[in-house]
This record gives sequence, structure tokens and C-alpha cells, in this order.
Amino acid sequence: MIMVFSGAGLSAESGIRTFRDHDGLWEEYDVMQVCSTQGWEADRELVTQFYNARRQDLKDKEANRAHITLAELEKKYPNKIYNLTQNVDNLLEKAGCKNVIHLHGTLTDLRCESCGHVWDIGYEKQNNHDACPVCESDLVRHNVVMFGEAAPAYQHIYEAIANCKILIAIGTSGQVIDIVPIATEFHHSILINPKREEYMTSFGSNGKYIDEYFEHFIQKNAGDSMDEMMSIIEEFMDV
Ligand SMILES: [Zn+2]
Repeated sequence: MIMVFSGAGLSAESGIRTFRDHDGLWEEYDVMQVCSTQGWEADRELVTQFYNARRQDLKDKEANRAHITLAELEKKYPNKIYNLTQNVDNLLEKAGCKNVIHLHGTLTDLRCESCGHVWDIGYEKQNNHDACPVCESDLVRHNVVMFGEAAPAYQHIYEAIANCKILIAIGTSGQVIDIVPIATEFHHSILINPKREEYMTSFGSNGKYIDEYFEHFIQKNAGDSMDEMMSIIEEFMDV
């Protein structure tokens, strides 16, 4: 089985930005104000506005060649792919992927803090007075994991490591989830990233690059790497 593990670099060519990119939407906000549990407790209104803006921004974004290729991969090897993403956008789904595990939640859903119910609101704005459709609680929030809280979907990482022989990591810098200890569990692995990233351990740099822990490194944007990725996967699947 194949574990696909993607990050911001997968969606960058679709125009999805992150805090590290410094574009308009993000410069208005401080990351800890809008992406941490402290920020959420301090000002729910501000955080809700932030996610409303991101949700609206997602509406006209389209899947790129990399998302589409991953959907083709899923069709080519049915029930053989663990598709794990750190991205909260829905571009893998827009491309036709059926089984996406969102490690950090989903922008197009809301969640009830009282009963845990999660529901799809598409690209709509969350109104602060919206109540949960199941329990009617008004403790409703965005469905994105914040700094300072648990990410229950991480259990799928361990499940995928246990079940997969091949790792494909796309557009992840390894700064949020450390990809290196994951990569060392695999005999076959591919890393796709446009630039080399220094490996930072909790003690600082160890003088190595993340790509050195992978069997193959394709140093290109996600979209430009797909033919090469597919031919390496075919070789892996043959043996
Ligand atoms: Zn509820």
C-alpha cells in the first residue's frame, strides 16, 4: 500500500497561501491570534472572521495537476492508497479523491464543541449565532486544528506506517509534522519539494537535509513532478 502525505506545497500552485507566504489575507492577522487555542479563547469573533475569509477565498480555487494525478492514482490502485494531507482545503476532493484524511481538519466544515457533531457549510460564512443542528448548542467553531490542541486524526499516520510499504511526501517542509522519523520507517520513499529543506531536530540542525532520508527526491513543484512520480511508483509496484 502507498502512504501519500501532503502539505502546503501541494496546493500552492492553486493559489492557496499559508502564513509563511505573507500575502494580503494573512498579513492582517497574527498567527497565534487566529490559529491557537489561546487566541480562540480571547476573541472568538476575530477567529471566526478569519476562517470565514479563508473559506470564501477557497471557493474559486481549482485543483491543480498534482491533485488530479493523486485522484488518478487512487483510481489506478483502488484501496491501496492512504491519502493523508495536512491541508485544510478541499482541492483533493475537487479533483475526485474519495478517501482523504485531513490531519488538521477541514475548512468547509463546522464543529459543535458540545456534542462533537461536524457538518458541511461549503463556502458559507459562519454566523456567531448559528446553533448545532443536532444538539442546538451555540458553541460552534471552525473545524481546523489549532496550536495547543490535540489532532486526533494523527492516529491515521501510525496506521498508514503500519500498513504501507511506499511513502510519497509532497510539498511538506516537515516543520509541523516531522517527516523524517516517518520516512525512516519506509524502504521505498519519494520526496517532492521545490527546494531542499534543512532537517531541524529539537536540538537544532543536524547538518542534514530532509531529502537525504528519502530514496528518491524530486526537486520540483508538485505539478511538475507528477510524471516522474508516477513512473517511480510503477517501478515500486512491479516488484
Ligand atoms: Zn451539538
